[in-house]
Amino acid sequence: MSEGEDDTEAGGLDAAALAERVRAGDLRLYELAAGAVDADAAVAARRAVVGERTETALDAVGAYGFDAAVAENNIENMLGAVQIPLGVAGPLPVEGARTSREAYLPMATTEGALVASVNRGCAALRAAGGARARVTKSGMTRAPVFRVADVAEAEATVEWVRENEDALREAAESTTNHGELLGVTPYVVGDSVFLRFRYDTKDAMGMNMATIATEAACEAVEAETTADLVALSGNLCTDKKPAAVNAVEGRGRSVTADAVLPTAVVEERLDTTAAAVAEVNRRKNFVGSAKAASLGFNAHAANVVASVFLATGQDEAQVVEAANTITTVEPREDGLYVSVSLASLEVGTVGGGTGLPSQGEALELLGVAGGGDPPGSNADAFAETIAAGVLAGELSLLAALSSRHLASAHASLGR
Ligand code: NAP
Repeated sequence: MSEGEDDTEAGGLDAAALAERVRAGDLRLYELAAGAVDADAAVAARRAVVGERTETALDAVGAYGFDAAVAENNIENMLGAVQIPLGVAGPLPVEGARTSREAYLPMATTEGALVASVNRGCAALRAAGGARARVTKSGMTRAPVFRVADVAEAEATVEWVRENEDALREAAESTTNHGELLGVTPYVVGDSVFLRFRYDTKDAMGMNMATIATEAACEAVEAETTADLVALSGNLCTDKKPAAVNAVEGRGRSVTADAVLPTAVVEERLDTTAAAVAEVNRRKNFVGSAKAASLGFNAHAANVVASVFLATGQDEAQVVEAANTITTVEPREDGLYVSVSLASLEVGTVGGGTGLPSQGEALELLGVAGGGDPPGSNADAFAETIAAGVLAGELSLLAALSSRHLASAHASLGR
């Protein structure tokens, strides 16, 4: 078919014909997919029109290497793709409850020196025999808000919820094959009642799953109490906003990693001492973070999490919750103890962006792609590996600060 030819009878329009329809005002940008010969034609037409209107070439954006159809549930009004360089740190030996492997950590970033820094931390941890990691709590939350007349009705609603958790479980779990309702925590504020539902979402990050299940449970609450649902998300969940509830109660996976580095490793690999690293951690991560009223008490946990999230198709906005990390450092007789505890790491190995080709390969590289056996074990292993990577990042940066190498490393690697 020649460019510009209308091919409706053969199953859809090519890019040039679609773009013409948009220019003529017959179609809007978001209406192109339905009439296109394939998903890539709709993307090309959109890019042509937007490129013309904004006088932008968009050639690089258009040079993507996957079938646009695979992304149809991940993006609307697709123009192309933004390519982020992908690097790797490791190998990093991780001994977890769900993983025991030499991990290569895929990191997508444009921050020069970040991969090198984490890689240095991995080398130090490797010399120390590796990192341990464990998921200590698990559960994705959704907290709808209901309107009641007064506190007496609020109390009655809370009482009904406490006495009927089984009925709520039945309603919620009717919407999913994998999800399990773990519990419901009520909160009352005047004439508002919040119910914080917590689910085991297995290998899915679970935000869609929990939202759909909670909607079904809310119907049961409304049918049996005087409460009226105002919003399916009442912000006590709390998704994608800094919140103490996630730092204290956890959300997604709460995961901790630690290691003890022999004195010789600290001195020879990191060019510092246990006492110097501990002092930086105390004054910076504890005193400085306290003075700043920070929710996270760490050096740069979000750096490692964000780069792995982008590489593996996680929901990047949930880096906010992952920053709820506490780093502890303690000189011990035999060397340096270091730990990181991520209170709310929201990760999945199925669903969301994990099925996109590059992101799927990054998960394969980690050995955690797809559903685990038993369900949930792949996402646990993934969380353990990320925590070990955060440990490497914290160790490297704290060591660089304690030996005053930070500025020179950035100058030589990042600019
Ligand atoms: P999803 O892509 O909506 O669903 C994943 C589905 O995979 C599950 O519901 C489950 O189906 C199925 N599944 C197959 N094998 C599984 C296994 N081993 N473990 C668990 N599930 C398995 O993903 P999601 O994790 O629920 O939600 C993530 C998406 O939600 C992301 O795209 C994110 O950006 C988006 N998001 C949504 C909201 C919201 O409010 N809706 C908020 C923030 C982010 P069954 O349920 O039938 O078992």
